[in-house]
Formats: sequence, C-alpha cells, structure tokens
Amino acid sequence: MAASTELHFLLVPLVAQGHIIPMVDLARILAARGPRVTLVTTPVNAARNRAAVEAANRAGLAVELVELPFPGPQLGIPEGLEAIDQLDKEHITFFHAIWKMAEPLEEYIRALPRRPDCLIADACNPWTAGVCELFDIPRLVMHCPSAYYLLAVHNLFAHGVYDSVGDEDMAPFEVPDFPVRAVGNKATFRGFFQFPGIEKEQRDMIDAEATADGLLINTFRGVEGVFVDAYAAALCRRTWAVGPTCASLSIEDDAKAGRGNRADVDAGRIVSWLDARPPASVMYISFGSIARLPAKQLAELARGLENSGRPFVWAIKEAKSDAAVRTLLDDEGFEERVKDRGLLVRGWAPQVTILSHPAVGGFLTHCGWNATLEAISHGVPALTWPSFCDQFSSERLLVDVLDVGVRSGVKMPVMNVPEEADGVQVVSGDVEKVINELMDDGPAGAARRCRAKELAAEARATMEEGGSSYCDLTDMISFVSELSRKTTHERDTSWTAHPMHFTAAELGHNKGDKIEADAALEVQS
Ligand code: UDP
Repeated sequence: MAASTELHFLLVPLVAQGHIIPMVDLARILAARGPRVTLVTTPVNAARNRAAVEAANRAGLAVELVELPFPGPQLGIPEGLEAIDQLDKEHITFFHAIWKMAEPLEEYIRALPRRPDCLIADACNPWTAGVCELFDIPRLVMHCPSAYYLLAVHNLFAHGVYDSVGDEDMAPFEVPDFPVRAVGNKATFRGFFQFPGIEKEQRDMIDAEATADGLLINTFRGVEGVFVDAYAAALCRRTWAVGPTCASLSIEDDAKAGRGNRADVDAGRIVSWLDARPPASVMYISFGSIARLPAKQLAELARGLENSGRPFVWAIKEAKSDAAVRTLLDDEGFEERVKDRGLLVRGWAPQVTILSHPAVGGFLTHCGWNATLEAISHGVPALTWPSFCDQFSSERLLVDVLDVGVRSGVKMPVMNVPEEADGVQVVSGDVEKVINELMDDGPAGAARRCRAKELAAEARATMEEGGSSYCDLTDMISFVSELSRKTTHERDTSWTAHPMHFTAAELGHNKGDKIEADAALEVQS
C-alpha cells in the first residue's frame, strides 16, 4: 500500500445523521487501508460525531474532523440549526444554505499546503462539483440509499413514468427494465429532492453525478449485486459497492454507543436490561433520526405493543418534541404500565449497541437505509414501517427480495394519508398481529431468523480481506491513486496559482447567492 499512504481524501457528507454516520464509517475504513482522511462538516455536526472520530484516532487511524461555518445565518436560519433532523419540515432555504457551503469549503481548500487527492461528496452535495473543478480535484460521489432505490428512480425518470403520472401520487405503476418485479406509485418511489421549489437542486444532483469520476454505494454485492451492476451500466460510471460500512465497526464500545450523537440513555443500562432477557425475545423500535409518527398513530403503536405482551426497547424521540406523546407516556400511564418489560429511550438511542445484543430478536424500523443495513448486518429480522423516500424501497428489498422482513401495513408517506385518518395507517390490533408474526416461534419465524443470520455472516465477510466490498475499496483506492498521479502530472502550475485567480462563482458555480430566507425556521427542541 505504499502509494495509498500518501493519498489524502476529503469527505463531505450531507448534514444529516443518516448520511454523516456512514461517511464517518467510511473515513475509518479508508484510513485503516493507508490514506489520510479529512471529514469536513459544520460545528454542530462535528460535535455530534467527534466521539467516533476520536475513537478512530485512539485506534491509530489518521482521520481528522474539520469544521466549516454553516452559512445558514446569512439566509436567516437561526444559529445552531445545522442538521436536517433539527427541522420540523423540509425547508428550501436550508438547502440553499447547504449549497452555500461551497464558499467556506473553497476557502478551506485554498489554505491547504497540498491539493487533496480526492474529494468524496455525498450525492446530495452536488455543489462540491464546482469546488473540485476549480482546484482540479478528482471527485467521487457517495450514495447513502440502496442500489435498488437508485436504479428504480433512475429507470422511472428514464422511461418517463414520473411524467406520465404527473401529480397523481398514488397512481400505480411497475418499475420498467428492473431486475425484479417492483410495483408502487410516486408517493412510495419519490426521488431525493423531488418536490416543488427545489427542482434546481435536483438537477444539480443529477448533473454532478453524471460528471463524477466514480460512484460509491453503501451496499454489498451479496444483497444488491444485480442492482449495483445495472446502475453502473445505466450511469456509465465506475461504481464501487463498499458497504455495509456499519459491518466493519470495530471501534470501542463507548464510541459505538455514541454513534451519530450522544445517546440520551446510558448504554450500559440498556445492555444490563437486555442481559436479563432471553435470546431473540426483545423488539427494538426506532424511526431513525428524521421521521416522526403522528401522535394518534404513535398511540395505536403503543397500544399494540402493550397488548402483544412482548419485551421491547423503544427509541421515542417524539417524547422530546410532542406534548401529546408525553401525555400518553406519563399522564395516561403507558410507561408505568409496561415498566417491567418496556424500556423507553426519550431521544437518541445507542442503536448499534442494541441491535448487536443477542436478546434482540426483531426490529420495528422505518427502513432508513442505515437502519436496514444495521438490521441485515446484525441478523435481526425487520418489521417494516417506512415513512418517506427510499424507505419504501428498503421495505421491498427486505420483504420481497431478501425475505427477512414482515410488513407493518403502512401504505404511504404521512403527507399522503387522507386527513380523516388523522395520520393513522396501522391500528393497534394490526400492530399486535404483525409483531406476533415477526417474533413467531413457528417454522416461518425460524426460517426468517435463519436467513437473517446467514445474511449477517455475509455482510461481515464482505468487509473482511478478500470480501467483495473490501476488494471494491481496494480498487477504488488504486483508481484514485492513478487518477491523482495523472492529474498531478498534467498540471504544470503550482498548487496555489490556479485557485488564486478564480472563484467558483466566477467559474459559473454557486449561482443564486442572494436567496431570501423563508419565514423563520423553527428548531425542534
Ligand atoms: N440512530 C441512532 N440512534 C437513534 C436513531 C438513529 O444511532 O436513536 C442512527 C442509526 O443507527 C442510523 C442513523 O442514525 O445509523 C439513521 O440513519 P437511517 O438511514 O436509518 O435513517 P434516517 O435517520 O436517515 O431516516
């Protein structure tokens, strides 16, 4: 690995936990193979992920965390609001502020003593393309959703299916030219940034991907090989499947527990609680960092859970932001009634610590791609409860393709649920039924658990030396090494000469600098 010891990668994640966490994993995995890695993010996001980076440093890995000021306040966004989970809904101005991060990134790179060999940008950070062009830095795009979803959305655009259904969110269709049969509608196959007011950002994303030097996907060929290959062929880009990044976690337990944020509960307390439960008996429930259940739906879930009689750990972040939920838990006595077999985490839970415990036998998940990979990597069958975007595709993959999941019965994102339903899609009786189906001791449950364990073993093996994701990463590092040598050779100017003369804005990037702020944004408590 002599060449790669000299390589320097800059990693630029989207400011959302579901995107930063796999990027921090990638930083650690890359550094373990030789290169030096710098993670660039904003102060709030850096603070949330510092424990993981420091743990990597203690393990001798050259990972550095660099803070760039978040341009939000320039657009009227309150100071300290720097991550998507802090928003109460999609705010277009917030994305404009993300796009403006090109300026501090440009400044940061200009001050570096040496040009980085490669910048890996989240696919949702296309604004990095102009910065890389300015400094002549090779650029790779990192995708955080599944290859299944990427290919489906690509094909739906390419075959004009989205155009043909227009605003009819629930009009049914089948994904054309797809390796498996996949049916759904626009509501359950919506692409990233595919909503009104943010069309430019969506176009930027497509353009930046089309001009990238290559693509990384946090997945592995064992579960998604056919989708990865089809996507690479469709985009005509070199593509590496380098995940599941979570399956390589070897950092010490304290950092694992604080992954993505400081947990709102002592991880040791949860582990002791789980230690006292039989193997595979506990349900873990989490809706990730962004999705929030409407209060009425949450009450139905609570009742179904209570009636199921099963032990559970529930990461219930709504308890922080929703007074109706606190009333249900406290005044109406839910927490007291289930205290012998239910543990509530009011906020951020140490998810990977929980999923890696043998007492956990089922995961009621919103099917974020990280949660999906974490379920797969730990051999925990899933009760699928998607909320938006790629989550419905992860559900299809878990249930229809991999056969390690049971559907909860959710049919659409909350925004599409008819008003009279009050946000409720699954009533308590059905919650109880699907929990029992997932945790069933009969042949169907046993077969599902067995498949889940096999997939977990495959996920771990793929990240080890000789595994397909390990080899893909080796190939990516060699590719960057070669590309960097070539670009350095072709550049006859000194490192600073070119960047001192132009700015990204002068080269035609970062247009629309003067963007008025939306109405004041609300920060979730
Ligand atoms: N997570 C966690 N504790 C929580 C909620 C989420 O550690 O209480 C982590 C989870 O393990 C995953 C990430 O946050 O790695 C969320 O990413 P995902 O893609 O599952 O969902 P998103 O939050 O992006 O919807």
